[in-house]
Amino acid sequence: MTDLTSDYTKLLRQERMPHIWCSGCGNGIVLQAVLRAVVSAGLEQDKVAVVSGIGCSSRAALYANFDTLHTTHGRAIAFATGLKLARPDLTVIVLTGDGDCAAIGGNHLIHAARRNIDLTAVVFNNSTYGMTSGQYSPTTATGAKATTAPYGSAEPPFDLCKLAEAAGATYVARSTTYHAPQLASLIERAIRHRGFSLVDCITACPTYYGRRNRDMFDGTGDAVAMMKWQRDHAVPVSQARRMSPEELEGKFVIGELVNVESPDYSEQYAKLVLSKAVPH
Ligand code: SF4
Repeated sequence: MTDLTSDYTKLLRQERMPHIWCSGCGNGIVLQAVLRAVVSAGLEQDKVAVVSGIGCSSRAALYANFDTLHTTHGRAIAFATGLKLARPDLTVIVLTGDGDCAAIGGNHLIHAARRNIDLTAVVFNNSTYGMTSGQYSPTTATGAKATTAPYGSAEPPFDLCKLAEAAGATYVARSTTYHAPQLASLIERAIRHRGFSLVDCITACPTYYGRRNRDMFDGTGDAVAMMKWQRDHAVPVSQARRMSPEELEGKFVIGELVNVESPDYSEQYAKLVLSKAVPH
């Protein structure tokens, strides 16, 4: 059995390197945060399963050295739900992007949250579909440009944390790739939480989102400018509680947003099945 306490890089599949991510992409920081969280939580490598959908971020499942499923677009949570029901002893982590999770996979997200199934969804939220060259996603800011919104998006974005909370998620948190240690710590707490947990990871796609929205990011749209944007627009939850809606306009809240105890779906389902079982 691999000793996970010494070096989280052992949890990377070296034979899959080099990875496909662009220079300056935030996906590697999120993946590192996940691996650090697994190590900090003291999990055994063969007791963790990672499930991803499709997109740049979902490639992370190919690099993470666990039993992994790289599934179809939007269906990561559906596959993960089946896996968790079949193997409740596993810690199941879903790695997904904002498009994968909140657009085509939106229904799976809300129903997993409603059921409070014991999964951790780590959302690589870069506000775009990077792999298919920068279409706008459900989290693209109003007015931000994309290949499918050359004059700017006319739509309001989802707040993924509010969506998950409203649907019933019992652990919800957000951080950014700029706040990498906090991100790892929140993912660890999400993994330890029993029930459906979601961590909204604000990350950067300089190649498509930054480049098309230079005016938002210091006029350059490069990776450094995007990290500075994360630093300057994130408000810790403790500070946000003292701020008015007007003061929070254009900002986003980071930290632990929801943490409540409630029976998880696998537990409820097992109880129901046992209570209905007919003795032979
Ligand atoms: Fe990252 Fe964007 Fe490049 Fe995809 S296209 S690897 S999200 S920077």
